[in-house]
Formats: sequence, C-alpha cells, structure tokens
Amino acid sequence: MFGFFRKRKQGDGAPVPHAGAPTGNATDGSQSARAMEGPTPSPSPASSAPAAPVVLSGRRVTVFGMGASGQAAARLAAREGALVTVADERTGDAVLAAASGLPEGTTHAFGAVGKALTEADLVVLSPGVPRAHPELQAAESAGVPVIGEVELAFQHLSAPVIGITGTNGKSTVTSMIGHILSGWKEHVFTGGNLGAPLCEAALSTTAWDFLVVELSSFQLESITTFRPAIGVLLNLAPDHLDRYPSVSAYYRAKFRLFENMSGYALLNHADENTLAIADHYLKNARPVLFNVQDPAMDGVRVADGRITVKSGDQITPLCPVSDLKLVGAHNLENAQAAAAACLLAGCPPRLIAAGLSSFTALPHRMEVVAQRDGVTWINDSKATNPASVVKALEGFSEDQPVILLLGGRDKGGDLFTVREHVFLHARKVILFGEAAEKFRIVLQGFADLEVVDTLSDAVDAARAAATAGDTVLLSPACASFDQFTNYMARGDEFRQLAVAP
Ligand code: ADP
Repeated sequence: MFGFFRKRKQGDGAPVPHAGAPTGNATDGSQSARAMEGPTPSPSPASSAPAAPVVLSGRRVTVFGMGASGQAAARLAAREGALVTVADERTGDAVLAAASGLPEGTTHAFGAVGKALTEADLVVLSPGVPRAHPELQAAESAGVPVIGEVELAFQHLSAPVIGITGTNGKSTVTSMIGHILSGWKEHVFTGGNLGAPLCEAALSTTAWDFLVVELSSFQLESITTFRPAIGVLLNLAPDHLDRYPSVSAYYRAKFRLFENMSGYALLNHADENTLAIADHYLKNARPVLFNVQDPAMDGVRVADGRITVKSGDQITPLCPVSDLKLVGAHNLENAQAAAAACLLAGCPPRLIAAGLSSFTALPHRMEVVAQRDGVTWINDSKATNPASVVKALEGFSEDQPVILLLGGRDKGGDLFTVREHVFLHARKVILFGEAAEKFRIVLQGFADLEVVDTLSDAVDAARAAATAGDTVLLSPACASFDQFTNYMARGDEFRQLAVAP
C-alpha cells in the first residue's frame, strides 16, 4: 500500500521541514532517521501554500473560552499588539479570576458573547468551545475568521513540531517523546492538550529545539496553517460523539493533522480504522509505520522481544521490551510510536533506548495505587471511552480476576464494545454514576453485576468483594463530569479511597 522507509535520493533536504528544523547529523546517530525517510512527495497547494499567518497588531481579537488555553492565547495576542477581548458564557468567580491575570487593557465579554464575536477582526477559539456554537457560527457567517489556540501559537513559533493525535495514548506518547528528546536536546517543549498550552511555548523566550504537542480533535478542527514536521496518528475508535454528529466527522477532524504537512506521517499498522482511510488524507505527508505486523515490511515493530526498526535490509534493535516500565500491549504500541518519532527527529538510537526504559507511567493511566492484602488497586480514570477499557482488560490474562468499576457520563460511544472483554476478564463489575443503567443493559447476563450511586460506594463494594489475588480496576469508559470536575479529580478520589484503612 505505502512505500515505507525507502531511502531518499541525496540532496532531498532536511528530514524535518518546519523552519529551524535540525537536519540530522551522521555523527550523532541520526543514520537510522535518514534511513527511515520515505520518498519525496510532489508539491501540492495543500503543503506548499497554506493560508497566510494572521496579522494581529492593532486588530480586534476576541478569545472565546477562558480556560488555560484561552488565557495563554489572550496573552500572546496582547503581546503581538492586538486589542484583546476575552469572551466566555460563564460569569462566575472562576472566569473573573482567570481574567484578572490578563494584561491591562484586555476587555471582558462574560455572559453575552455575541457582539464580541461578530465585531472582532479575528476570533481565537479555545478547544473547550464547540465549533458549532451558534454565536460563533453567526460570527463566521458574517465573515469573521476563526482560528484555534494551537494555530495562533504555531504562527508565532519556528521550532519543528512533533504533533501527536489519536483516540487513546496521546498524553502517554507525547510525554514519552518529550522525555526521550529531553535526554538529547536541552529545550524541548512538551504540552498542547496536555500540560501547558502551545501558546505558552510561543510566549516563552526559550529557543526551542522541539515542540512536542498533544493534539485533540477539537484543536485540530481550528487549524489553518498548522503543520507538524512529524505527525503521529496513534489509533482511531469512536469517541466524543456528544460533540460530533458522526464517527466519521470525528475521524476527519483527526486527519486534519496531515492537512498541511509534507513531513512524516506515523501510522499504526495494526489500526484498521487509520489505515483504511489514511491514503485519502495524507496528501504530501510521507507515511511511516509503527506497530508493524508483517516482518517483511519496513517500519518499527517488536521482534525477538525488542523494539526494532527495519529499513530495507537494515535492522536495528533499539530497546528490549523487558526494559520498559509500562505495562500492557497498548503501551508497547505507544513505545514504538515514540521511538519512531524520535528516530525521524534525528535522536540517536542509544538515547531513544535510554528514554524508553526510564519512562514511567503517567498518573491515572493504569496506575497501580495500592497493593494490600493481596489485592492490587489500579487507577485508569483516564479511560474515558470504551476502546481504552478494552485495551486495559486485554492486558489481563484470563486467570487474573478483575473487579471492574465502570460508569460516569457516557460520551455517546458504543458501550457494547466492552461486553466481550468484560465477560472474558472481569469476575465482578460495579456500575456507578449516570451511565450505570446503560451499562446494566449492555452487560445483561453477566453473573456478578452490582449497581451503586457514587465512586465512593463503588470502592466500598469492591473492598467488600475483593479477595487475595484480585485486581480492582477503575477503568470507567466514561467522562467524569457527572460527579467530578475532571478525570484527575476522579482518579485522585479513587487513589485516596484505595489507600484509606
Ligand atoms: P489520551 O491522551 O489520548 O487520552 P492517555 O495516554 O492519557 O491518552 O491514555 C488514556 C487512556 O487510554 C488510559 O486509560 C490508557 O491506559 C489508555 N491508552 C493509552 N494508550 C493507549 C493505546 N495506544 N490504545 C488504547 N488505549 C490506550
């Protein structure tokens, strides 16, 4: 299907094409990176002439949405000389406190936002605000250009971007790449949808070597020129159907990662949803595979217990799987994606191996929070869709009994996808929160199903039922917003309850 890892002709240029990109250097081990380069794509309007950056000085810029991204965007727009208005439909203390830290001269439009949007020369959108917001749509129809916070930041940055998206694993892979590259280069920004917004990188005076950026579909919806040097699409599964009209609309938003790219598109060879439609969306990006299932194909795969890169006849082992501190098959996919991205960025293989083996799991993702009386308690609160729960359960063998805590606010995904895996791996399921009733229907016929109200009740029920050898797993398949401010608050409560006497 694709020509992967073909050697480029001499003089084909730098592996990472955004301004300021490192060119690779044979003495620092980037040979593998060069060997991974694909064929040079022919130019097309999509990559050679993305829409022009927006001039901000003296313009009326309305930043819509006062979360961390909106605040950073407002500060960046103000620094660039814009007349900034911050708009938010909320009027309470939280939004006033957020606005109080903004530069002097910033105007507020809290509550009613319509006028601030239609009278702007440019709207900068926070990812938390749906693109379909009626007053935003009205402003767009009236001709007001709308860009996202990531786009604004990108227009004020020159270092090469490694952009990571996918339904699951974004934060893990973003952090992994950031961790590996930080062992090589001094100034690596790791953020975006995770941690600091990309506008913070643009506000900083640091001369970044790399920008490692997690990207949600909501952020990708509002790009115009954004163009990573390396784009990683980890996987695709139904999610966020509370905000998208269809699964394909959600997938299309994800594929916008490649829209302006002429660099490397890293794709998961085992993810059918991605590969089936990748050809259509890649345009000028050069495909490179990770999680390769066929030993004859080029790309990054696991061979003989090692993460290995194959390029033609050249096979380079990078890191024994047993050196990884992360558990689960999904994390092996994540490690391969991170290794491939770092190789393409020119990082020496020995530093990739060192980074992979020293990386530890992020909190709330298959995080072991307690081991007591022979019972293991695992916090996977970040599992907010069915696909991530499937991966979590697949990590357990059939003779490892799991007590699974499921529930929260359903985002409209297909909850039935967890059924088979629950029957295979769980010995008891405790349902809590808004989605409990839906799950009760999905899991009809399952022998040991208990329905409770809150997470705290669920932990009590798990404790009462658990015996030595069991694993209590919070992998809820749902958002947390019915009972918590976010998945972190839910995971923190679970951790506290799990360690409590
Ligand atoms: P994201 O940022 O995309 O939400 P995270 O790294 O925060 O991804 O992980 C979210 C959830 O998905 C966790 O439950 C985690 O265990 C699971 N997960 C991580 N990587 C993968 C993957 N490659 N495939 C499926 N599930 C994954």
